Amino acid sequence: MNKPMILVVEDDAPVRNLMVTTLKTHDYKYLTAANGSEAIALAASHNPDVIFLDLGLPDIDGIEVIHQIRTWSNMPIIVISARSEDDDKIEALDAGADDYLTKPFSVEELLARLRVTVRRLALINTNKEADSSVYINGNLRIDYLAGCAFINEEELKLTPIEFKLLCLLAKNTGKVLTHTYITQNIWGRSWDNDIASLRVFMVTLRKKLESANGSCQFIQTHVGIGYRMLRVE
Ligand code: CA
Repeated sequence: MNKPMILVVEDDAPVRNLMVTTLKTHDYKYLTAANGSEAIALAASHNPDVIFLDLGLPDIDGIEVIHQIRTWSNMPIIVISARSEDDDKIEALDAGADDYLTKPFSVEELLARLRVTVRRLALINTNKEADSSVYINGNLRIDYLAGCAFINEEELKLTPIEFKLLCLLAKNTGKVLTHTYITQNIWGRSWDNDIASLRVFMVTLRKKLESANGSCQFIQTHVGIGYRMLRVE
């Protein structure tokens, strides 16, 4: 894959410059937009690989930018926002953002998120994950067709719901999935007690992964937001 093209959407010039300098230093290609309508126009005309999107923009709200881009593209969007409230992050993720970063962020964190996203993009582009009936991540193997999962080739004794949860997370490796997204996929609805049940199922699923693997390095918890399957090296 060529060096990816990143669209940086940020109205705050010092923050925008920091991101641009970081991208330049690491040899990424980039474009910049200082407002939402410019962002949508550039996304459409240049088809960037990844978008860094500030939520608080002077013209259109960042959430609306996500909604509009998602009507025609699945390009990864990493939300970068000064708003520390979880509600904004959840709204952005539910609108179709892939990940989020809270300001102030470190340059290392920005680059780390970008690497995760680019790796996920490369897998999607080669279609390896989508076509395959088997998922492999470190010593975890899921056989989607057979309906079983293994750690070090030892079968995990999962309930049907735990297996569905594991598959949903695996199919979205690298992406933060919100509680609402997960419960809607598993139970077809997202009531408060579904989210409460989700927590319980996640605890038992992680325990099973952990006891088989020593420590659970696969599933990351985003408190108040959701969960993410990590790619294990
Ligand atoms: Ca802003």
